[in-house]
Amino acid sequence: MSSFPTSTVLGYPRIGPRRELKRALESYWSGRSTRADLDRAGAGLRERTWRRLAELGLGGLPSNTFSLYDQVLDTAVLLGAVPERYRDAADPYFAMARGTEGLAPLRMTKWFDTNYHYLVPEIGPETVFELDASKPLGEVREARALGFETRPVVVGPVTFLLLGSALERLEEVLGCYEELLAALAAEGVAWVQLDEPALVGDRTPEELAAVRAAYERLGSAASRPGLFVASYFGDLGESLPVLAGTPVEAIGLDLVRGGVPAADLTGKIVVAGVVSGRDVWRTSPGRALAALGSVRASQVVVSTSCSLLHVPYSLTDETGLEPELRGRLAFAEEKVAEVVALAAACAPGGALFETGDGLFGGGDTLFGGDDVPSVALPSAPMPSEERSPYAVRAAAQAGHLRLPPLPTTTIGSFPQTGELRAARAAVAAGTLSQADYERRVEAEIERVIRVQERLGLDVLVHGEPERNDMVQYFAEHLDGFAVTRNGWVQSYGSRCTRPPILHGDVGRPAPITVRWAAYAQSLTSRPVKGMLTGPVTIVAWSFVRDDLPLRDVVFQVADAIRQEVRDLEAAGLSIIQVDEPALRELLPLRRSAQAEYLEWAVAAYRRATSGASDRTQIHTHLCYSDADQILAAIDGLDADVTTIESARSGARILGAVSAFGRGLGPGVYDIHSPRVPSTEEVESLLRRALEELPVERVWVNPDCGLKTRTYEEVEASLANVVTAARRLRPAL
Ligand code: GLN
Ligand code: ZN
Repeated sequence: MSSFPTSTVLGYPRIGPRRELKRALESYWSGRSTRADLDRAGAGLRERTWRRLAELGLGGLPSNTFSLYDQVLDTAVLLGAVPERYRDAADPYFAMARGTEGLAPLRMTKWFDTNYHYLVPEIGPETVFELDASKPLGEVREARALGFETRPVVVGPVTFLLLGSALERLEEVLGCYEELLAALAAEGVAWVQLDEPALVGDRTPEELAAVRAAYERLGSAASRPGLFVASYFGDLGESLPVLAGTPVEAIGLDLVRGGVPAADLTGKIVVAGVVSGRDVWRTSPGRALAALGSVRASQVVVSTSCSLLHVPYSLTDETGLEPELRGRLAFAEEKVAEVVALAAACAPGGALFETGDGLFGGGDTLFGGDDVPSVALPSAPMPSEERSPYAVRAAAQAGHLRLPPLPTTTIGSFPQTGELRAARAAVAAGTLSQADYERRVEAEIERVIRVQERLGLDVLVHGEPERNDMVQYFAEHLDGFAVTRNGWVQSYGSRCTRPPILHGDVGRPAPITVRWAAYAQSLTSRPVKGMLTGPVTIVAWSFVRDDLPLRDVVFQVADAIRQEVRDLEAAGLSIIQVDEPALRELLPLRRSAQAEYLEWAVAAYRRATSGASDRTQIHTHLCYSDADQILAAIDGLDADVTTIESARSGARILGAVSAFGRGLGPGVYDIHSPRVPSTEEVESLLRRALEELPVERVWVNPDCGLKTRTYEEVEASLANVVTAARRLRPAL
């Protein structure tokens, strides 16, 4: 077996430093360019990445980490798991990714505990696995033509099948992987990387047996490259001895999230993930070198903890950041430089530490370094006051709000128009004054209020026209956060987010949303619902400091939101919604850690909301169907009204949440599609809800915010929603 390079990364961003892939995709989807144009754009991005990694001095270059949409979808295509119904589409790949005329896309969900979304493989009795290795082989050849030998990266068989809930198909799938290995070997590929992040979660004895069987079999394949099985996002735990007992030559460990294993791995190559792929902080060389030094293996390769997909490309553009903060940061390119420097330091004669110069600035003074003092948490973790029991609150709210049965409302955002986005860009560019911008926001709020009045909604919203994003907007107005200019991270397909960087103690120097909410309320006699993002979600969708426990960081944000809740109440808002759509996302992968997380996450939410008086109605909103694991926690939030996605997940979620005993708004239509639901359809969903829930607790609302829809769609849909609710009311 050939030796492994001394440094590598598990994967790299692919959207393009200027989101070139996003533009190429959107142009292709809208028919403005051809598939050949798109493929050319992809090839350009791959070339740029390999060249850059080589320039930075990285040893092992990965390939097949590029994707036009998603690496799990790519793996499904690789293995022939393309459902029949997509095969005749003009472009089956994008039909699976995004749907097409009359054909819904594959289900999409979050990749482990990240904010990246993958397409769930659909594997049924009719699935015939059949290898199509054109993509990985094509990338190997493409790189070779540029002068680079690469290590193709493919999602491993166990993770792929676990994501597709079809582990029983292992034997068949392994046949495809064997063929793939043979094809790569024939191509002269030295190493292949099989990603098995599922192995860092709790695995049953049967699943562990599948891991053993898979890698025994692939390890004994007659013709194959060296096998590198990568794990990430945590500790391999009980999977490590299983994997170590198979013939795979190299094992990747996440030494940022997981500890250095006590096991003696001499005989294996360990690809040691000491540079975090999940945060934006510079690596503490002391810690990294200590971890590297304590791994017992035949070779220790310096690497990232996971793919760098989850961090932005480069700090080069971020000239607007405070120099002190910027000095503590590392994005993908800077992390690659760290990997290279650490590998040099580990090499015989490596002198980085003695000379104390260069990359690491001569000392272990980095953020997250060993000696950085944490800031003490100022206040106690539990809410300082609890609200009255629900019955007391409900009575106070009913007397005050005087809502009809089956009250209608929305989740907060109304369509974000191109003019608003352009106006925000103009303010940033200095071509529009803040005052002019604010007048436009007010005009939009007025429009949203009038639309809702005309449609006859009962609880109105201001429509969130001032917000670019439900997290970034708050980050821009809170102390302790910085926002980047170009720090885009892929969320799914062509979609990216720009996670704010939470780097210091969080504070709220001034009210944030009060002025807009109060303005909206001043325009109407109907109740307007104030709209805030919850502390867990703000933290989940930001890069956060790692010198404090996550819990303490979330509590600091909770305190800021608590002040905002109080100020909204004081400004006359009698309903306040605090969204917490990311509550599920931060759930630890290991069951043993979940209860503790849920306990503090719920406590943080209550801390944020418990300052409201009994008369103020607190709403919360969550938008995913796989809420099953956290139902008790959602109940624990103790919100007076919970709106939740249910149009797609249907009766299952209704049954599950019916025990809450407080207000519930199961979504009556899916906002992800431009389709306008008919009145009958909404009515029948409501009837179904009324079978499970007492009428006085049911609210009527869409599944989620309306910001990605057009006014035309929204008005037509909401008109039918209001009609459906009104039709049912007299019968009650
Ligand atoms: N209030 C937000 C909106 O309506 C909620 C978005 C979300 O749930 N992700 O857009
Ligand atoms: Zn939502």
